[in-house]
Amino acid sequence: MPPGSRESAPGVVLAAACTGVRGMIERGKHRLIIFDADGTLRRCTVSGQKCPNADDQWELLPNVKEKFLEIDREFAAFGIASNQAGVHYGYLSERMAYRLLEDMMIEITGCIPPPGTIQMCTHSPTAGCACRKPHPLMLQRLMRMLEVSPARTLFIGDMESDERAAGNAGCDFLWAHEFFSRELAGS
Ligand SMILES: [Mg+2]
Repeated sequence: MPPGSRESAPGVVLAAACTGVRGMIERGKHRLIIFDADGTLRRCTVSGQKCPNADDQWELLPNVKEKFLEIDREFAAFGIASNQAGVHYGYLSERMAYRLLEDMMIEITGCIPPPGTIQMCTHSPTAGCACRKPHPLMLQRLMRMLEVSPARTLFIGDMESDERAAGNAGCDFLWAHEFFSRELAGS
């Protein structure tokens, strides 16, 4: 069981449709949409802090829920690829980091994300690991698990490291502010 995952969550739909991410019928180009988390789907509500470390420290960014409603879930699977160096620094546990991302997806979709669809790199930025973006390993794990080729995968993020990760994985990339039709901060 992934760290932080739960056996049940009252009020959360656990329908087969939520876990039926394989064997999808092809329609359109992208069958897998991978999202960065911080600055793309959620923001930290603590002033001066980049990422949330606790339940009451985050909120969804504008247009996230609305845009997800427009995606035909029968034809496109979702994944998360998030650098979580706060775990390395001891700001939060791996279990908490996972649960906060899981809660984020539950708030967005109403479903518990299928096991494996939340990928985190919890290493130090200087560890030289293969998973921290801009390295492509988290994206490659998601594509392999969901059996979707890079050509049919779209990664959405807000940092140059996200764009480079997509390039290194061979998949398409879109900036979060474009995908979610948001104004860039300061623009
Ligand atoms: Mg980000």
